Parts: sequence; structure tokens; C-alpha cells
Amino acid sequence: MRTEGMEPAGLEPAGMGTAGIEPAEMEPAGLEPPEMEPACEAEEPPGSPSLPAEAPQDGPVAADPPGEGELPAAPCRERERGRCGTGPQGSAGRAARGRARRAPGRRSGGESARRPGVTVDSSKAKTSLEALKISLRQLRWKEFPFGRRLPCDIYWHGVSFHDNNIFSGQVNKFPGMMETVRKITLSRAMRTMQDLFPLEYNFYPRSWILPEELPLFVAEVRMLKDRNPSWKPTFIVKPDGGCQGDGIYLIKDPSDIRLTGSIQSRPAVVQEYICKPLLVDKLKFDIRLYVLLKSLEPLEIYIAKDGLSRFCTEPYQEPTLKNLHQVFMHLTNYSLNIHSGNFIHSDSVNTGSKRTFSSILCRLSSRGADVKKLWSDIISLVIKTIIALTPELKVYYQSDIPAGKPGPTCFQILGFDILLMKNLKPILLEVNANPSMRIEHEQELSPGVFENVPSPVDEEVKVAVIRDTLRLVDPQKKKRKDTQCQSAEQEAGEELPEAALPSLCLKQVFPKYAKQFSYLRLVDRVAALFIRFLGVKGTTKLGPTGFRTFIRNCKLSNSNFSMAAVDILYIDITRRWNSMGIDHKESGNPGMCLQAFVEAFFCLAQRKYKSLPLHDQVASLIELCECRLAALRGKRLVWGCGLAQRHRALPAAGTAPCTGPAPPRGHQVFRLQKTSQLRALMCRDRTGS
Ligand code: ADP
Repeated sequence: MRTEGMEPAGLEPAGMGTAGIEPAEMEPAGLEPPEMEPACEAEEPPGSPSLPAEAPQDGPVAADPPGEGELPAAPCRERERGRCGTGPQGSAGRAARGRARRAPGRRSGGESARRPGVTVDSSKAKTSLEALKISLRQLRWKEFPFGRRLPCDIYWHGVSFHDNNIFSGQVNKFPGMMETVRKITLSRAMRTMQDLFPLEYNFYPRSWILPEELPLFVAEVRMLKDRNPSWKPTFIVKPDGGCQGDGIYLIKDPSDIRLTGSIQSRPAVVQEYICKPLLVDKLKFDIRLYVLLKSLEPLEIYIAKDGLSRFCTEPYQEPTLKNLHQVFMHLTNYSLNIHSGNFIHSDSVNTGSKRTFSSILCRLSSRGADVKKLWSDIISLVIKTIIALTPELKVYYQSDIPAGKPGPTCFQILGFDILLMKNLKPILLEVNANPSMRIEHEQELSPGVFENVPSPVDEEVKVAVIRDTLRLVDPQKKKRKDTQCQSAEQEAGEELPEAALPSLCLKQVFPKYAKQFSYLRLVDRVAALFIRFLGVKGTTKLGPTGFRTFIRNCKLSNSNFSMAAVDILYIDITRRWNSMGIDHKESGNPGMCLQAFVEAFFCLAQRKYKSLPLHDQVASLIELCECRLAALRGKRLVWGCGLAQRHRALPAAGTAPCTGPAPPRGHQVFRLQKTSQLRALMCRDRTGS
């Protein structure tokens, strides 16, 4: 299936496929040329206000473009660190290191007396604690560093949803996110989307899963080389579940795959290596962008206007057998490069081995690059990637937080690692469920003696992301708005803290651009069918009865496709998926996971609509299933109506024995109503109303 339409130069330099955002829609963010970089490194005088509530109103994102500011904020923002208080020399930075001070000014006392403030449990925040503390101080929210007996509004977890038992409020992790973004799971999800929408998903390098797809990898590479003998590819092998460059190596030929040894024998992804990355100062770099998944249903995505660029520490050369092993040249991981003698710690956001992304954009813009297009391509990449991840996430979500049971709502900050090709095409490397939110780094003072020192670049970007995430999920926002309206007279002239904070660094991209991308949400609809037939809540796998019920209710079996054939399909696919040894929540459960169901669904679609392209086959089968299920639901409702009418017609209780409705009467009612009412019900079901 995957060999179709494959060209050796797999990653087309051209646009981002059909679903995209017109660059024209993306207003520039007032990118200032680097020369205009200012000044304002001035340290705040000791004792200056530590909270941005009192900061000047033309704070960090004053350079927002007209109409929403989709581009990263104007770069070179060192001056702003002082203003919004997130800089290490800024007051909030100092506050983070243990000197919490009350904000001066008239609001400080009165405000807190009027409002109890949002409560945040930070006891599991781990390495994001420092940045979280600064954010909470800026917002004047109440932190519970050791947890709280009463429920908190927000629980901030450093690692996973399951760090604590939570039954209410909001938690900053989705169940199953870590599993969903693992290298193998992400590659599978992206491949499913590439099969359906090859052009739209050409921002993800062609990948194979090891060890199970080793023969396929070998065969495909051989075929591509035969087709194009001048193709001299390089591949990168990345162990599943690895991070920080752990166990990664480059190869020139499939026969170089190491299948023995502890790390090498782990399941892994082998991927086409991007040989021509964009270089800055002759160095390869990647971009870490922060993305907030604010809600899964309905889907809400925000992107931080600024991120980080992490640089290699050896000048880049295209891979050759001689330099394949030089990690400081090929891998941009901070955790690796920090050990290079060439690593440059810098207090400036524009220099050194870790810089802001906006400083790179600024530089590109001054060289005449179309940064508007680049930014809109990045937004497309992020939305498409999340669309690929949501089906799996929804399965985990319904399993951990079944509808109708008490549980928290979730949001999550994700770290997107993106590489820019020479032609400025963004390529997705990976998605991190737990991007580092550390705002300090280790410095070796003398051999073997390390000290944690503040990292201005990290602090600038990460504190804003956490603070603004909190502002977006603020549970009191709505209440506050109502109160503001009610007591407008009382509070005339009094600003709310929100108004005094810098404008949000997180910009909504979904549902804002939903129209352009909704057609990509096909697998989401397959997942909705899967979830519907899961039956018992709390599971992520479909049993054989659930699968049979799905086939029956959707009327997919017939004389050519018997229920026995259905069972064989179920057993074949499920057995194969369960033998892959995927690290799954229910790896002991022999049932069918979502990805196996998707494969079975594609098989059914191919059987039923032989002559159509895959995308149309799948779309047609989804329509058919949804339609038949709606009809079934309609039928049941009408049956219900029939029962109710019959009940109404029955004599009052006690006057006659209640024998219950006889089916034939119900049938009569159904027959009478079915044409008009059923159509209306079906319509209603399909529009979701
Ligand atoms: P990890 O989770 O271990 O950091 P990544 O997938 O982020 O794994 O890869 C580590 C580094 O390897 C990236 O930061 C990037 O510099 C480089 N890299 C990864 N995949 C590719 C690729 N397909 N082409 C070029 N470089 C890559």
C-alpha cells in the first residue's frame, strides 16, 4: 500500500498539501530587523514591582499584528523581560528564587479580599515547578505546594495524568498522551494519515517500524534505489520511548541496522534523514514550539507565538560515512550538545546555542525569506498532527474519564520539535508530551562541580507559556466576567489583573481555522464508531462481540461476507496487532485496539468500494455506517414513541392489568411515522443536534 506514488525524494520541497492556511491570512507580527534590537536589558531596580499587574501596558506582545497576530511576537524582546517580569534579572525571576513579594498598588489587598483566587496544586509539578511558581505569582493565584485536602481548581502534573487521583477541577495532562506520542505510535498515526492524505501529511519523514517492518524497509529502499540510482539516502534510527537523543544513530544502508545489544534491540523507528536542513551560522538547529491542547471535544488548539531554537555545536556537513557518528553535527538535542566544549550559554535570546525562535524568524525576515508563509505552514503542521493524534486520545479519555462519572477536565502543553529544510519547509520530528519546562541549566563551575544557573531564554519563553495556559483555562474567568458586569458601577475605573497582564502569547488556531482542516478528521469518525461499540466503559480494546455488533448494526455482512468471515478478520488483525508487543495500557487484554480497528475498517472499505481511491473508500464507509446507525437509533426512538403512546392509551393503573405493549402495535406506529419522522431523526443524528 505504501509504495504507491513514492518518489525517492520523498519529502517534496513544495507546499504543505491542500489543507493549508493562505499566507495572506497570516498578518505579519511586526517583525523588526535585528538591528532594531534593543536595548532594555536594564536590570530592574531592587524592590521594583514583582508582578506584571503593575507593568507598563505596552508589554511583551505589543507588537501583535493587526487582527490576531498569528506570527510569533516581534523577536528580539530582551527589553520586555524586564517589563513583564519574567526575565532572570527581572523581578519575577528573583521572586522565583524564593522572594515572593506582594504587588504594590491599590488592587493588591482589595482584589484578593473580593475573590478567593484560583487554587493550584503544584505538589507534582516536578521540574516545571519554578516556572509554574513565577506564573502563579504573576497571576496572584494560590499555590498549594504540598497538595490540599480540599479539591483544587487546577492540578499541575510534571509527568502524567495519573500522578494523582483527581475527581474534579482541571489537570494539565490528558490520559494516554505519553503513549500516543511515543515514536512508534506517532509514526503509525502519521502513516494512516499519509495513506489517506499523502500530500497533506508530507511534512513527516517516511518511517518504518522496527523490527516488524524491517523486510518492508529493505524492500522499499531497494525498489527506490533501483528506480533512481542517484538517490543516496541516509536514515536515522530512533528507539521507541527514547528521548534526548538516547540510542539514536544514522545509517546509509538498511543492512547497517543494529538488531542486537540492549538499546538496539528495542523497538524503534527508522526514518528518512533530512540531509539538507536550514543552517544558521553554518549550524543545524531545530525548533521547539509549545502547543496547548486546551480541549479534545470540542477540539481547541493554541500555539505559542515564540519557541526555542536548539543548535548543534559542530558545523553541519551532509552525512557521509565519515561523519555519520558526529552527534554534535547531526543531532540538535540540548541534552547532548551541552556536553560539547562549543556549547554557548548566552543571556541574549539572539545568540548562543539556545535562542528564541522569533530571533531566527527575525533573521530570516531580514534576509528576505517569506516568514509569513513559514509560520502558516507551521500552524498547518501543528493542526494536522493533532488531528492525527486525537482518535487515540479520545479512546484513552473515555476509558479514564467515562462520561457521567466524576473526573477532571484536561488540557496539556505539548512540545513540537520541528526541523526546517533549506527551502523553509517545516518537518515534524516528534511531539513531546512532557516538554521540559525547566528555566535553569547546569553549569560546570570547575571540573566536576556543577551549579544550577538561570537560563534567560528558557525563562522568557516558558514562563509566558505556562502563565498564559493558566489564563486560558482559568475556571473563574467566566464568573469574573459576570461579576464585572453586575458590579460595573462599583468597580468603575478599576482594572482587573487580566487587563494588566501582557497580551496572550498563545494564539488560537483551532477552531479558528477549522474550516480548512475539518475534512482531515476521517479517522476521528472511525474512532467514534470504535468507542460506540467498546461497550463497557473503562476499556480501550474492542472484544469480538463488540466487533460483531458493529458489523451487524451497520449491516456490513452479506452473502459475500459472512459473519464467519467477520470473525476471521477480527482474529487475524487483532492477533497481529497484539503480537507486536506494543507498550499499550492494556497489553494483556487480547481485544482489538483502535489502530487494529482502523486497519479492519480500511479493509472493509476496500472490499465494499473497490474502484475508489482509499480516501473515498473510507469516507463512503463512514457515511454508510453513520447513516445506518442513525437509522437504527431513529428506529429505536420511534419504538420508544410507540411504547409511550401505547402507555398513554392504556387505562389508568389499577383499572386494568398492565400487560405491556404488544410489538405489533409498535410496528404499526413505526410504519405510520417512519417516513417523515425517521428522516428527521436521521438528519438530526448526522448534524449532531
Ligand atoms: P529524541 O526524542 O531522542 O530527542 P528526536 O526524534 O527528537 O529524538 O531526534 C533527535 C534529534 O535527531 C533531533 O533533535 C534532530 O536534530 C535529529 N533528527 C531526528 N529525526 C531527524 C530526521 N528525520 N532528519 C534529520 N534529523 C533528525
